[in-house]
Amino acid sequence: MTAVLTLPITLESTFAANLPDMAVAWHAGKVSDPTLIILNEKLAVDLGLDPAFLRTSGGIGLLTGNGLPENANPVAQAYAGHQFGNFTRLGDGRALLLGEIVDPSGQRRDLHLKGSGRTPFARGGDGLAAVGPMLREYIVSEAMHALGIPTTRSLAVVGTGGMVRREEMLPGAVLARVASSHLRVGSFQYARATGDADLLRRLADHAINRHYPEATRSPNRYLDLLDRVIAAQASLVAGWMLVGFVHGVMNTDNMTISGETIDYGPCAFMDTFDPATVYSSIDAMGRYSYGNQPVIAQWNLARFAETLLPLLAEDLDEAVALAENSLGRFPALYSGAWLAGMRAKLGLTDDVDDDAVTALADTLLTLLQEQQVDYTSLFRSLGAAARGDAETARAFFGEPDRFDAWLAKWLAHSPDADAMDGVNPVYIPRNHLVEEALASAVEGDVGPMERLLAAVSDPFTERPGLERYAVAAPPTFGCYRTFCGT
Ligand code: AMP
Ligand code: MG
Repeated sequence: MTAVLTLPITLESTFAANLPDMAVAWHAGKVSDPTLIILNEKLAVDLGLDPAFLRTSGGIGLLTGNGLPENANPVAQAYAGHQFGNFTRLGDGRALLLGEIVDPSGQRRDLHLKGSGRTPFARGGDGLAAVGPMLREYIVSEAMHALGIPTTRSLAVVGTGGMVRREEMLPGAVLARVASSHLRVGSFQYARATGDADLLRRLADHAINRHYPEATRSPNRYLDLLDRVIAAQASLVAGWMLVGFVHGVMNTDNMTISGETIDYGPCAFMDTFDPATVYSSIDAMGRYSYGNQPVIAQWNLARFAETLLPLLAEDLDEAVALAENSLGRFPALYSGAWLAGMRAKLGLTDDVDDDAVTALADTLLTLLQEQQVDYTSLFRSLGAAARGDAETARAFFGEPDRFDAWLAKWLAHSPDADAMDGVNPVYIPRNHLVEEALASAVEGDVGPMERLLAAVSDPFTERPGLERYAVAAPPTFGCYRTFCGT
C-alpha cells in the first residue's frame, strides 16, 4: 500500500474528476531501495516544491509514488493510438498520473511517473523502466526546453534498486515527469472509440479549459480547439525540424493536445543533414524519419479531427468539410513557422522576401546533404562567417567552392551575427555524448551526465572548456541506432 503522508504539496485531480471513465485509480509499485540519481532543482522551485524536501526520504517517496499526500488520487490514464499506422487501445501501462500541481504562477501541471509498475493497461509489459532510457528522456527533454521547444519536463530520476529484464538485466528507475497535461490525440481516439458522445464532449471541454480557454469565446469551440491544436503542432514540428530533432515514434498516442513534445523513446538529434535520417531500430520503413515528420504530424492531426467530427456540426458532411478546411491549413502554418525559424537561423531581417530566404535555405540544405555536413555545427559557424570569418564554415565542406558561391549571395543580405548566435545552438545532446553519459550513470558515476546537462541547458552561449560538447561524433562512433525497448 502507498503510505499516506502530510507532505508540503497539494495534488489536485481534475482529470480524474472530469473524466472518471478514462482514469483507473491505481498505485505505484513498491520501491524498496530507492536512490535519487538526479533532481531538477530549478524545475522543483518553479513548481513551488522545496528541493531539500525532495531529497529526503519523504521527497523520494513522492517521486516514486510510494508516499503520497492526503487526498492524492493517482490514476492510470486510458488512451488509444495509431502505432505505426495501426489502431490499438493502450493506456498507461507503466505510468501513473499522480495528480496536478498548480505552480506559484498559477499554471496547472501534471506530475506523472514512468516506470512505476504494472497497471491494468500493461498488457504483456512488466510496467518497469530502466535507468538508461529514463535518464535519456531527462537529458533530451531538458535540452529541448533550453532550446525553446515546448516539451514535457523531467523533475527527477530515482533508481529503484531492482533489476529490469530487457535484452539483458538492467537497473530499474522511475522518472518523475511534469507536463502541461498528458492529453494526447490518442486520448480523443479512446473517447471516440467508446461511442459515448458525452465522454467525448467532456474530454474536449476538459482540454479547452486546460489549454485553450479562449476557444470558449468562439462560435464553434470544438472547431476552434481543432484549429489551435493544428497550429500548436505545426509550430512544434517546425521547431523540431529547425534543430534537427528526430522524435522517432510519432504515434498518435505520443502527440499531445498541448503542443508539447512527449514520450522520448528512440529519439535523437541528426548529425549530418539527411532527410532520410532514422534512428529507431523498429522503424525499418522510415515512417518517422526526419523528413517525414511534418507529413506524419498532419496525418496524426487528421486522426484527431476525425474524433471531433460529432462535435463539429450536427450534419456529418458539414463536419467533414469543416475538418478538411482546418487540416488544409496545416501545410501553410508549418511552412510559415519553419520559414520564420530558418530566417532567424540565417540572420535575415523581414526586408528579405520569403522567396529569397527559401532559395537560400534550400540551396544550403542541399549542399549540406550532398557534402555530408554536420547540421548544428554548420549553422553555428555561420555566425562567424557573418562577422567576416568564414574559414570554420568552409572547412566543413569537401568542395568549398559551391559553398563560397552560396556564401556570397547570403552575405549580400547583411545577416545579423549576434541574432544568429541566439538561435543556432552550440550544444545539443549529441548521440555519442548521451551514450557516454548514460553508460557512466548506469555504472554509478553521474559526473558526465551532469556536465552534459550543464552544456545543453545553456545551448546558445559558447563557453571555454566545453569544446568536446560542440563537435560532431568521431567517425569511430559509427551508425547510431536507438531502441524502443525502453
Ligand atoms: P511508449 O512507446 O513509451 O509510448 O509506450 C507505448 C505503450 O506501451 C503505452 O501504452 C505504454 O504504457 C506501454 N508500455 C511501454 N513499455 C511498457 C512496459 N515495460 N510495461 C507496460 N507497458 C508498457
Ligand atoms: Mg507513449
